[in-house]
Amino acid sequence: MIFDRRRYGKDNYTYLIAAGGDAALVDPGDPDAALALAAAHGVRPRWILHTHGHADHTGGTAAAARALSAQVLGHGGDADRFRPDVDLAGRAELALGALALRVHPVPGHTPGSVLLEWEGRLLTGDTLFWAGCGNCRHGGDPARLAESFLGPIARLDGALEVHPGHDYAAPNLAFALALEPGGAAARARLAEVEAAHAAGREPAPSTLAGERAVNPFLRLDAPGVAAAVARADPAAAAAGPARRFVALRALRDRA
Ligand SMILES: [Zn+2]
Repeated sequence: MIFDRRRYGKDNYTYLIAAGGDAALVDPGDPDAALALAAAHGVRPRWILHTHGHADHTGGTAAAARALSAQVLGHGGDADRFRPDVDLAGRAELALGALALRVHPVPGHTPGSVLLEWEGRLLTGDTLFWAGCGNCRHGGDPARLAESFLGPIARLDGALEVHPGHDYAAPNLAFALALEPGGAAARARLAEVEAAHAAGREPAPSTLAGERAVNPFLRLDAPGVAAAVARADPAAAAAGPARRFVALRALRDRA
């Protein structure tokens, strides 16, 4: 079994999953980085999967698909941005040769955003980041993102590893610590991330349980998070969790 990632651009990640001679690339925004990742493991992916349709995740798809004669899979909700061969809409389970994945629809960052679950790992695209969540500036809807966080994401197993589409851990943890200055788990995670960056290594993945200890978007009821929302938007603070999530997303957009 192979699982690996490669950074491209400033902070994007593309991923490789492989088992039993079958392989898939996820979000090959940069075709050279994605093809080099596959070549480094000596595999030839027959599938290209997408967490969503934004160009920094799909920009290399056509070139990589051509080079590999691979099939392109993505959610049709983002079809105005890219054109997959296979629409993931309505597909909870995917069998790609020896690769068995689960697909969790999580609209919000874009209409067609999904989480891909494979062998205890969750590829979260731009929906769930280390210590944060995706913004909704490019075709997104914060109210739908709130529903995804409070519904399907809240129900997922805490043991799942979190593998996002970008490494925004340091600024996100700084924001988290501004809300919860006494957050020992966030402080420890920030130290771990900074040490990795300083050493030229990639940060280790978090787990969903770890995110629930540091990520303000999964901690709407934590006193520091609730107080920050109340200061910024008293009406939202008095409303339900979905309104509070949207207010927190707006606060993060202004940070
Ligand atoms: Zn995106």
